[in-house]
Amino acid sequence: MEPTIEAYNELVEKLLALSVAYYDNDAPLVSDFEYDRMNNELKRLEAEHPEWIRPDSPTQHVGGHVSEAFAPVAHEVPLESLQDVFSFEEVAAFVERMDASVPAPHDYVAEPKIDGLSVAVEYHDGVFFRGATRGNGEVGEDVTENLRTIRSLPKKLKNAPARLIVRGEVYMSHDTFNTLNARREVTGEPPLANPRNAAAGSLRQQDPAVCAERMLDVIFFNIQLSEGRSFQNHFETLEAMGEMGLPVVAHTLCNTPKECTDAITAIGEGREGYPFDIDGAVIKLNDLAQRQTLGSTAKYPRWAVAYKYPPEKKPSKVVDILVQVGRTGVLTPKAVIEPIRLAGTTVTNATLHNQDFIENMGVNVGDTVLVQKAGEIIPEVLEVVKKDSEGFFRLPAVCPVCGAPAERDEDGAAIRCTGAECPAQRLRNIVHFASKDAMDIDGLGPAVVEALDKAGLIKTPAELYMLDAQSVATAERMGKKSAENLINNLADSKSRGLARLLCAFGIRQVGAKAAKVLARRFATLDELMEASEEELTNIDDVGPITARYIVRWFQNEQSRHQIELLRQAGVSFESREEIADTRFAGKTFVLTGTLTRFTRSEAEEIIERFGGKASGSVSKKTSYVLAGADPGSKLTKAQSLGVSVLSEEEFLQMIEE
Ligand code: NAD
Repeated sequence: MEPTIEAYNELVEKLLALSVAYYDNDAPLVSDFEYDRMNNELKRLEAEHPEWIRPDSPTQHVGGHVSEAFAPVAHEVPLESLQDVFSFEEVAAFVERMDASVPAPHDYVAEPKIDGLSVAVEYHDGVFFRGATRGNGEVGEDVTENLRTIRSLPKKLKNAPARLIVRGEVYMSHDTFNTLNARREVTGEPPLANPRNAAAGSLRQQDPAVCAERMLDVIFFNIQLSEGRSFQNHFETLEAMGEMGLPVVAHTLCNTPKECTDAITAIGEGREGYPFDIDGAVIKLNDLAQRQTLGSTAKYPRWAVAYKYPPEKKPSKVVDILVQVGRTGVLTPKAVIEPIRLAGTTVTNATLHNQDFIENMGVNVGDTVLVQKAGEIIPEVLEVVKKDSEGFFRLPAVCPVCGAPAERDEDGAAIRCTGAECPAQRLRNIVHFASKDAMDIDGLGPAVVEALDKAGLIKTPAELYMLDAQSVATAERMGKKSAENLINNLADSKSRGLARLLCAFGIRQVGAKAAKVLARRFATLDELMEASEEELTNIDDVGPITARYIVRWFQNEQSRHQIELLRQAGVSFESREEIADTRFAGKTFVLTGTLTRFTRSEAEEIIERFGGKASGSVSKKTSYVLAGADPGSKLTKAQSLGVSVLSEEEFLQMIEE
């Protein structure tokens, strides 16, 4: 089908929206691979129909806007983007273009393409002066104070020219990314999606202290401007930056097209050695005067290309399927495969996501599957290419770590361990137990919980109450005083009452609000533990699913053990909420005739105050008909349906008890 201008416009709009999500909000909506595919389609349409090209097309300008939250910085030398290529043929075509445009011989520099956030950093007499994001390429955002928090950014250079602007990439190292995400899992914060967006989001924080916590790094790959010292070629500038004390990207000098593609292959194979993600390799013409001659298009320099590595896929045999339990209790199946080399790493296992994924694919131990690894993402199984087993793998009905029942989320594909003492979830459970909405134990944040855990002092929330100051003081970063404070705070927390305790248990769907509702209905924990699913469902604001979660949680042996430990420790199980009298919960009353002691609306109010409902017509569902003098047809109907009829006296007795 012939492409239409409408389809072209639609594609431009779509890509522009995706760019806003990626550059301005640091929250991509699709993978880079998918974005590049659409972008290539756009380039193809524009090559065929140059008359359609819109000035705001993503091919015509550098992506990204300048947020008003930061002061603008006009870039003296624009921060351009790079032209992508996806095959070695395109790399060869680039070299041919260079040969045809500027006098030979040429040499090139190959560098890894760091997947971070581009910045321009300015030094005056070797002293860090200012730094800005790329923004729209012409104007960036002043992020000087945030950059100052980056340890790998030298604040002072050796033998630097009078004024120097260098371009580099701010990134979050894999180690930092993993540490921060492990911490977030414990605190229940959503995980950082990937190191690139984490770095971009962190550098664009308003508060430099928040940026500092994200432990970013920086690495440089270009001199934008140098006053007082000139250079002949790019290689020389990289060496000079290194001598000045700047961290510099790895660089290989290449003399032939073959050396360029060999360098690209080597960078791809060595990617696991870098502390950052790479999303390609850059080939740059070395001679700076020739670069000047070649100049730039609207968006890219003509003297460089970025080679993008395709996601690698290879078949391998599934030798086992292991089930891991995450800190939130989710059971995740993982295929153990015969080792294969993929995207520069040896891959021995690949995620199978969840039970639905396994079922749809019909995979089991013994099958040969296609495994993909794109960049730094976790390798995943794509499809079964050879079926050598029966049926598909089933996740266990009990947690492989603690043996508690594993239950499927009512509203999703995840299967979760329900054990209150499950070792896989202990850090998260303890942090949650101590959190503000729960037992509100001052001084017991994630870092302290980690330290207590490391020192082997606690395995479950209830064990917190067995701690003593002397042993707490042996934990990392705990002094005598802070240990004593913690013990005092723990003692104080014992009297928080039922609502907070219920919230602290971390029963699914029982947060602070639902816990309060329950504590208004039940005077003690023991009373609540006796309640049936039906009784719980009858409480307003408690649905059948929540009721089921509650009852099952209390049936669980591990939960009961926790409760016993808490009881022994003297933790209060009593409600501090005003207990509601709900003697008419779930009951419907119909009034008929004239009452002598109350008006009709007074009687209705009493019924509602006790949790009942007043209705106008009698049906099989009516619990009682309250009949005064001269009752009407409602009484006859009640009698024919067998609904209980109350006299005013009987009603009085019911409300006075
Ligand atoms: P780019 O990020 O692909 O390339 C240019 C950038 O590379 C420069 O800003 C520079 O900072 C960086 N770089 C890293 N190492 C370098 C080195 N050694 N030498 C030179 N530059 C180096 O280009 P772009 O136009 O900013 O963005 C396109 C990329 O962003 C694509 O990968 C695309 O997939 C992705 N993107 C994704 C989405 C999405 O929704 N997922 C949306 C928009 C863009």
